[in-house]
Amino acid sequence: MKECFAGKSAQEIAQILSEIGQPSFRTKQIVKGIAQGKPFSELTDLPKSLRERLAENYLALGAEIFEVRTSKDGTEKYLFRLADGNIVEGVLMKYKYGNTLCVSTQVGCRMNCAFCASGIGGLVRNLTAGEMLSFVLVANRRAGGTPEKRAITNLVLMGSGEPLDNYDEVVRFLMLAASPDMLGISPRNVSLSTCGLVPNMRRLAEEGLPVNLTVSLHQPFDEERKQIMPVANAYSIAEILDACHYYFQKTGRRYIFEYSLIRGKNDTARHAEELIRLLKGKPCHVNLIRLNPVEEKKLLSPTEKEAYRFMGLLEKGGLSATLRRQIGVDIDGACGQLRRKFIGEDGGLSKVK
Ligand code: SAH
Repeated sequence: MKECFAGKSAQEIAQILSEIGQPSFRTKQIVKGIAQGKPFSELTDLPKSLRERLAENYLALGAEIFEVRTSKDGTEKYLFRLADGNIVEGVLMKYKYGNTLCVSTQVGCRMNCAFCASGIGGLVRNLTAGEMLSFVLVANRRAGGTPEKRAITNLVLMGSGEPLDNYDEVVRFLMLAASPDMLGISPRNVSLSTCGLVPNMRRLAEEGLPVNLTVSLHQPFDEERKQIMPVANAYSIAEILDACHYYFQKTGRRYIFEYSLIRGKNDTARHAEELIRLLKGKPCHVNLIRLNPVEEKKLLSPTEKEAYRFMGLLEKGGLSATLRRQIGVDIDGACGQLRRKFIGEDGGLSKVK
């Protein structure tokens, strides 16, 4: 697979150019074009021969938009195609304060959570920093943005994959995304979501990259958490809470718990009480969302009314909680859903109805 320039620093690009006898001012032109989300063929301030020569050995961007679905609520779901033919999802959510791109960090996932479509076929491979940056660059361009006037202001690492299972590339991606040469997206405008890989949560606390840390908790009881999240066999909720506290101490940032309500499994008064006992007084917020039922899984979501009742219990117990509206349900907005439909059962690239 060809390497992509999007994941390289300006210095690395300058090195490649000097090896093929190109003047150093070309680096700036190329970096600028990449930040605009353009492939080599559109970098028209370069001589055609250089564009062709670069394209023989490299890609400018590691991903292209291959299909877009637009929801009634304005949410757009993208399928990105990678150079090796793999397909991953991204979602653009439009809010009053700006647009948020939901980025995938792996093709597939090995965490195998019971409710999530991303893990169904296991982990295919990690995404590279250049590929993840490419998603942002091409989506920004498609949404009419430029590096100077960004259409994408926020990122959430909540697509397919477990970001802390691809630690080095994810950190490199966030550094690149923050660089003024690219889109200058500050880590403060980035939310990284993890199923709770405790050692890497601690490592992230020390990284000097103050992203918003989000943990997919989904259960206040270890034994029941193990039934829906195999990762719970490796790390207990107590260890997760300690790591969150450490993150708060190091970065001064509040942390967030994701809690997808699954009918009968984690949405009862007993669960609310235990959540309150665990989280009361902690600098955290609970984001509730009703499960987005996945065809392959036999789990249901509570009604909206039941979800509000659960939220009310948390609030009465002193927690800060929000019930997120489900967005993009009509376009298979949940993790991994669209890719699964697209690649079909055989994992091939044949398009399913
Ligand atoms: N692996 C990371 C990043 C994924 S973020 C993590 O686990 O946090 C995506 C969020 O959506 C996670 O909280 C995940 O548990 C949740 N999720 C996955 N499938 C879902 C579904 N069908 N309905 C509701 N939430 C879901």
